Amino acid sequence: MSRYVLALDQGTTSSRALLFDHGGAVVAEDQHEFPQYFPEPGWVEHDPLEIWESQLRAARGVLERAGVSAADLAAVGITNQRETAVIWERETGRPIYPAIVWQSRQSMGICEQLRERGLEDEIKRRTGLVVDAYFSGTKVRFILDAVEGAQQRAEAGELCFGTVDSWLLYKLTGGRVHATEYSNASRTLLYNIHDCAWDDFMLSALDIPRAMLPEVRDSSGEFGRVDSEWLGAEVPISGVAGDQQAALFGQGCFESGRLKNTYGTGCFLLMNTGREAAVSESGLLTTLAWGIGGEVEYALEGSVFVAGAAVQWLRDGLGLIEAAEESEAAALAVPDTDGVYLVPAFTGLGTPYWDERARGVMVGLTRGTRREHVVRAGLESIAFSSRDVVDAMVADAGLQLDSLRVDGGACQNDFLMQFQADILGIPVERPAVLEVTAMGAAALAGLGVGYWSDRSELEASKGSTTLFEPRMPAAERDALYRGWQRAVERSLNWAE
Ligand code: ADP
Repeated sequence: MSRYVLALDQGTTSSRALLFDHGGAVVAEDQHEFPQYFPEPGWVEHDPLEIWESQLRAARGVLERAGVSAADLAAVGITNQRETAVIWERETGRPIYPAIVWQSRQSMGICEQLRERGLEDEIKRRTGLVVDAYFSGTKVRFILDAVEGAQQRAEAGELCFGTVDSWLLYKLTGGRVHATEYSNASRTLLYNIHDCAWDDFMLSALDIPRAMLPEVRDSSGEFGRVDSEWLGAEVPISGVAGDQQAALFGQGCFESGRLKNTYGTGCFLLMNTGREAAVSESGLLTTLAWGIGGEVEYALEGSVFVAGAAVQWLRDGLGLIEAAEESEAAALAVPDTDGVYLVPAFTGLGTPYWDERARGVMVGLTRGTRREHVVRAGLESIAFSSRDVVDAMVADAGLQLDSLRVDGGACQNDFLMQFQADILGIPVERPAVLEVTAMGAAALAGLGVGYWSDRSELEASKGSTTLFEPRMPAAERDALYRGWQRAVERSLNWAE
């Protein structure tokens, strides 16, 4: 008689919990922001306990809002900010260091050493990734170096490393389970995506003890049970995936060639490539989409580190707007940016540039530059960055895109979506239900316990989409995009 699936969506800026019914509709949700720490320029940290507490609060909150008890839940699914690294004591569950967030640059020096040792090609071949502080492996090395005695304790099996899914699994199961699944493992820089195993070469290159690694499981299936202490009854955890792969699943991109772009803190374009691990020549990553029933599927990914985060910066850093939604009216209050470009390379640049030393720039300023121009330039930067990634995807996959499916918090912004269609020259398709990341986690969990029988059952629950048609003349599009490329050049190789 279980009526719902609970999805825990542990994002970069907030922890959310959503309750889905059998028709795939969101019955209730709860969300709690938690603090971001910026201890040094380019560093971003979270408190693992604040992640956990905000997530637990959201889980309890959504049940309370819906008037539902844990006994009404068929399953729990987890989706999470990826690559963020946590190390904790196996015995006590105490973190030994803050979580180093995916955006953080503090392991840049360790990446530099990997490059100097000439390991880049081998690393790409094994992991599908590029050498960049973005991925977890060098963050783990950083923590083991930063905390006295940590290396020895890790070797002795006293410490656990995990991405945020593992950390939540460990906490939810009362410390019984130390596991992860394919999509998250493939973002650690420690996992061989072809052999589907932790990679000895990578472990030795970074001197990371195998004893601290989680067990890797299917994305849909048995992970353990939520301890009854947390929600009042035990509930099976039966689906886990990194947020971008969960969104790919939630968008119904089950077949090779289907793709989506998610506009959250960053922007992530993923294309399902099925059983084939496609290799990119244009700065895209090869990654695992998910593993189900012992079979893995792959994806090509373009990663933009700062998208919605640029809007947060306009709000919190500069105080130009009071709320993210206000950015739309500000942008529409002017006909264009009056030549202003903002390149929000606050934590370096990802696809296709992969420049850890890039930093943000604003160019084209004149005495006529106003608040609205800057806000508009911030929104436009999200669309330009996405165009960079779409171009890389088109070049690599040799496909002609006829439209772009979108989701994520910032895609509620109509101005941004229209500008995106204009700058790409193809229609942008926004689904009625924007909660596709949580939906993906719920789907993996629901399929894992037979609450839903197969993927096609989920497709039926999709509502109507909003279509943004391109309206900008090609010459204007090209001129604007050329300006962006010139602005990006000025942001590159800045930090010393
Ligand atoms: P995440 O999962 O990465 O935390 P979300 O998908 O929840 O992100 O989206 C939140 C991001 O979207 C924030 O960075 C916020 O600034 C941005 N955002 C939310 N609403 C809008 C809006 N109307 N216009 C522009 N950006 C927005």
